[in-house]
Amino acid sequence: MKSQGFRDTGMIVRRPARSGVHAPTNLASLMRCLDGNRNVALPIRPQGAGSSATDCNLATSGTLIKTSGLDRIIRIDADNRTVTVEAGVRLGELIASLAEDGLELIGNFDQTERTLGGAIAAPCMGPGIGGRASMLSNQIVSMKVVTTGGKVMNVSNTQQHLLSAFRLSYGMLGIIYEVTMRVRPTTTFTASHRSMDIDTFATVLDRLASGNVGLKFYLMPYRNHVYLDLRHYDANTGNAYSTPWKIKDWGESTVLPNVFKSLNRVMPIPSVRYQLMDTLSATTHGLVNSKLLRNGNNAAAGGRHRRRKPGNLLYSTWCFPASDFSVVVKAYARFCRETFAHTAYRCDLPAVGYRIARDNSALLSPSFDEPLIALQTTSTQKRGWEGFALDLSEFAENWGGTPLFNQTLSTRDAYVSQTYGGRMDFFRKIRRQLDPDNRLLNPYLARYFQ
Ligand SMILES: Cc1cc2nc3c(=O)[nH]c(=O)nc-3n(C[C@H](O)[C@H](O)[C@H](O)COP(=O)(O)OP(=O)(O)OC[C@H]3O[C@@H](n4cnc5c(N)ncnc54)[C@H](O)[C@@H]3O)c2cc1C
Repeated sequence: MKSQGFRDTGMIVRRPARSGVHAPTNLASLMRCLDGNRNVALPIRPQGAGSSATDCNLATSGTLIKTSGLDRIIRIDADNRTVTVEAGVRLGELIASLAEDGLELIGNFDQTERTLGGAIAAPCMGPGIGGRASMLSNQIVSMKVVTTGGKVMNVSNTQQHLLSAFRLSYGMLGIIYEVTMRVRPTTTFTASHRSMDIDTFATVLDRLASGNVGLKFYLMPYRNHVYLDLRHYDANTGNAYSTPWKIKDWGESTVLPNVFKSLNRVMPIPSVRYQLMDTLSATTHGLVNSKLLRNGNNAAAGGRHRRRKPGNLLYSTWCFPASDFSVVVKAYARFCRETFAHTAYRCDLPAVGYRIARDNSALLSPSFDEPLIALQTTSTQKRGWEGFALDLSEFAENWGGTPLFNQTLSTRDAYVSQTYGGRMDFFRKIRRQLDPDNRLLNPYLARYFQ
């Protein structure tokens, strides 16, 4: 008689792994989620606040690990100016805790409901002042990572190459559990706000290119208008009050998107709707020309303190060489107007831009070679958005734009490889060593990194 195998007896049945969501709250449970001997559905993907625009943080048929339960601020070391935190801590919570000790993050960052893990594993950029501190990942001195097999790995700044690969690694080399990063005493900056047409802005940009200022702007291509926010450190700054910054942020990131969503539903005539929207945007941004916003610091001006991603807010970010941007910005305004004329689609919210300094501390840094201007095109209008994002992509490629793996939509694989070049090859080699079975690679990331 033929002997029966284990499988035939039904004694050991390896059930197919089911896709699922895990939300670990401590290191041991995170390690269990990744344990190589567990029958979890692949791929495994970490997700912080889920605010990325692309599928880099999704695993529809695999296992999603939500890190937001890892939310302890472990130690604020005011003497050494460092902080140690778990990866699921929200940027806003950390900023508030640091402020109690007279400390702040190095750099000014919006979207403060994002998690620290998401802000280290993906670009977290803002207008740095004086060409410094544009990317938060630059401040990391060490991190604890749970590897694809469920083991703990320490990466510190004595292993520069490895640390540089882990910064902006999009969760492909392991899941960041804890980070220690540099912070600094709260420093007040002076902010000045101007508004102007796009040609004047382009002229001003050339003058500011090498200046010691932090540059942020709101661009309204259909009104031919720009609202400029310039920041610098001044010897005689006064106090910074957070309330005016909060009101400004509330207007820009909550009131406008919600009102526009309603207008898109109730106002059928596009010309009237857009006129109303542009007037509302102009009024909101005009308000910030107030003297109350003269002084700020990285805690007060952080902005966007919502806990959740605003539903339906669509965005795609491209970065352009800062040295060319005075030309690019005029072409971008032309592109928006021409696309509207051909397709009847336009973005309803102003685009937001800021200058990011050159930063080669991460292997996949977008500004590895030169300073860039990040331009975030934002809208609440879903119908027609995908086609617009595709056209925007073609425009950006023609103007030497750099895409971001988590914030740029509709990129062509060949263009991405060309832009990141040899650094991507090097990253792929490290990735294959640390995750030979591709357990952490979802289809979206596999397009670029397999
Ligand atoms: C309205 C709006 C405005 C924005 N403005 C800005 C801006 O001004 N500047 C800017 O830079 N970005 C901006 N963003 C983009 C976004 O907030 C950032 O990319 C953010 O850093 C992502 O953080 P998250 O916690 O949401 O991460 P997620 O989107 O959840 O994840 C991002 C990536 O990191 C990986 N990841 C997450 N946690 C971990 C971990 N613990 N270990 C390893 N990998 C991990 C994910 O797998 C994914 O690949 C904006 C987004 C929105 C919606």
